[in-house]
Amino acid sequence: MRLVLASRNAHKIEELRRIAPDIDWVAMPDELGDPPETGSSFEDNARQKARFVAAALGGWALADDSGLEVDALGGRPGVWSKRYSPEGTDGANNALLLRELSNVATRTARYRCVIALVGPGGEHVAAGACEGRIGDAPRGTGGFGYDPLFLPEASPGRTMAELSPAEKDAVSHRGAAMAQLPLLLAAAGLRA
Ligand code: IMP
Repeated sequence: MRLVLASRNAHKIEELRRIAPDIDWVAMPDELGDPPETGSSFEDNARQKARFVAAALGGWALADDSGLEVDALGGRPGVWSKRYSPEGTDGANNALLLRELSNVATRTARYRCVIALVGPGGEHVAAGACEGRIGDAPRGTGGFGYDPLFLPEASPGRTMAELSPAEKDAVSHRGAAMAQLPLLLAAAGLRA
């Protein structure tokens, strides 16, 4: 089965392909431009992105909207995770996060992910979360984004970037949301 992904994030696409290898994932065509992402929640943004691609292509599309919520920052960067620092690069985002948390003892945080499957027959969403805390310095080379600073509760002492791809998928917010994909496909009538 073929499904269009409303994303250009190569890391996300790689993870989705890895988590659901039975689906023929197709990245959204470049000529569509960037989907809107103006919502105030992960769910709003996931729906917006999937609607945009589904409407443009006239079929079903799946979007992932995700990010990091840090308790000491009142839930920031949240939906702004990609654009947290002015530069918007992973390195600059992680450096800013460490600066904002310098001398902060409460370092609990979580990743959240909402996937939206949108098409002619409706909209179906699922969410996943991964609890953890923010470390004092980046460690590891795997994953992307905030992974070198994020210590999942489920892997004590190791950052997300120190986990193997299979280990990350087993504990990640994206893995938890994508575990519900079969239910979304069934609700959409795309699979039994
Ligand atoms: P989106 O493309 O608007 O959903 O932005 C997602 C942003 O959240 C990414 O650019 C990363 O900064 C962060 N993020 C989401 N998922 C992950 C993850 O699995 N690891 C690390 N950072 C993530």
